[in-house]
Amino acid sequence: MILMKTDVTSLAPSCLGLAAKQGGQAADTPLAHYARKLARIEAALARMDKGRYGFCLTCEGRIALHRLEADPAETVCGTCDNGKGT
Ligand SMILES: [Zn+2]
Repeated sequence: MILMKTDVTSLAPSCLGLAAKQGGQAADTPLAHYARKLARIEAALARMDKGRYGFCLTCEGRIALHRLEADPAETVCGTCDNGKGT
């Protein structure tokens, strides 16, 4: 049961390494996609630990509930996301 968590965390860096080997930012293998998702979720969990979950990383404002419902690992509010373009 402890093995499960160990497996997942040790898997992520090797996935990222694999993606890089296959050609930089264009590589979007299922494994690389999974590793990115995992990294976002782990970052969201880390923010929860610090009591910063649900706050925009850019302007520190509240992220709207509907955005968190659509993507629980969302890192920016609607205003900052729009500023990013498409
Ligand atoms: Zn913001």
